[in-house]
Amino acid sequence: MDYDVVVVGGGPIGAVAARSAAEVGARTLLVEKGNGEGKPVRCAGLVSPRALPTLGASGESVIRQIRGGVIHSPVGRKIALRSDAVKGVVIDRVALNRELLNLARNAGAMVHTHTRVTSARRGSVSTTSGNDTEDIQAGVIIGADGPRSLVASSFSLSPPKEMLIASQATIVGPVRSGDEVDIFFGRSIAPTFFAWAIPAQEGEMRVGLAAPIGTKTDELLSGFLIRHKFGREISRIQGMIPISLARKTIADGVLLVGDAAGQVKPSSGGGLYTGGVCARIAGKVAGGASLAGKTSESDLAVYEREFGEEIGNELRFGRAVHSMLGDIDDTGIDALFGAIDRPAIRKLIARYGDIDYPSRLVHAIASRTDLWPAFRSLIPILGGMERLSSIAHMALVSDSDAYV
Ligand SMILES: Cc1cc2nc3c(=O)[nH]c(=O)nc-3n(C[C@H](O)[C@H](O)[C@H](O)COP(=O)(O)OP(=O)(O)OC[C@H]3O[C@@H](n4cnc5c(N)ncnc54)[C@H](O)[C@@H]3O)c2cc1C
Repeated sequence: MDYDVVVVGGGPIGAVAARSAAEVGARTLLVEKGNGEGKPVRCAGLVSPRALPTLGASGESVIRQIRGGVIHSPVGRKIALRSDAVKGVVIDRVALNRELLNLARNAGAMVHTHTRVTSARRGSVSTTSGNDTEDIQAGVIIGADGPRSLVASSFSLSPPKEMLIASQATIVGPVRSGDEVDIFFGRSIAPTFFAWAIPAQEGEMRVGLAAPIGTKTDELLSGFLIRHKFGREISRIQGMIPISLARKTIADGVLLVGDAAGQVKPSSGGGLYTGGVCARIAGKVAGGASLAGKTSESDLAVYEREFGEEIGNELRFGRAVHSMLGDIDDTGIDALFGAIDRPAIRKLIARYGDIDYPSRLVHAIASRTDLWPAFRSLIPILGGMERLSSIAHMALVSDSDAYV
């Protein structure tokens, strides 16, 4: 066998999986079709402060810290939220990709960039690099090749069922900087999801929106940019965001991780933290299984069990919230803004708001019986008592001190 583990895809999640496999002593190869920088960057680069240590990265890619934000309702009502604590950091994704690939190399993984995997089957992958083609034997293959995973389709693993399409522009000019982000809701802005404006490097902003596949997000974004006059657009990308976990992430000799597996928070579309949690487990399980010569689907099942324990409840909670918000029209969203725009709730948001674990905030609000009357009139808008109870129940079981 050439390698114990071959990781397909050198995005942030593949790099972490490769490092983790190398750290358990597995001979590991990572194959990336691009140059490893991940350009063009399909990411807003907003993560929680815990995401970088989870990925094993230093803070060298951090551009700024975020302590607050303004949420905008469909009719323009604004709620300003602020916390003393750092709630998020904005990162330079190219710098993060580079750092994570270097960490994988330092741990002993081989990294082949400019090399594309053209097919995969149990025990081997075929690659092309320039005019060269190669068959590489692998004990276990890790598919970290993004939302349209070739590895997944090669092993007949269905892709994540629900995907969003996102468009994002880089805006320059005298743009808003500071430590706040703006989030905009509304069916005509970003159906079932939201738009964002995130300050990045000085004089630069990332403005984007996401919506269900089939939506003309580029057109929506152009209109949005004209209305808000953020500044001058210098570049634009489009990308897919899987927001449901793949039904199966393992098969004989293979496991999927990151966007390929749909390990993304459905409430925010963020995949760096959740993918990072899973990538560490994926590398460890793949490396251990390959070294032990036990690489069948049942040998790899521990991967699904372990990542399910870490993030399963929160992903299920996020799906339920995403689907509930997707069913509410603009009048309903506005009414929801009315309910949360009160000092007691803003205080809870500042304290418990957590982009990785939104269930904590719902848990905190659900535990305050004195606040329930504010939400009574919203029960029909939010889908009825049964749906709300089920979401509150999920928030209660999701919440764990282990996540703090
Ligand atoms: C517009 C947008 C904004 C986002 N904003 C945020 C955010 O603010 N915060 C956050 O946490 N998440 C965000 N995300 C999601 C986040 O970017 C992804 O979850 C993350 O990039 C997943 O990493 P990955 O390594 O799994 O996949 P990717 O980053 O897609 O990497 C996959 C890699 O595989 C390589 N590859 C693919 N096929 C092959 C092949 N056949 N052979 C060799 N290599 C191959 C690709 O070149 C690529 O480098 C955003 C996504 C989008 C689209």
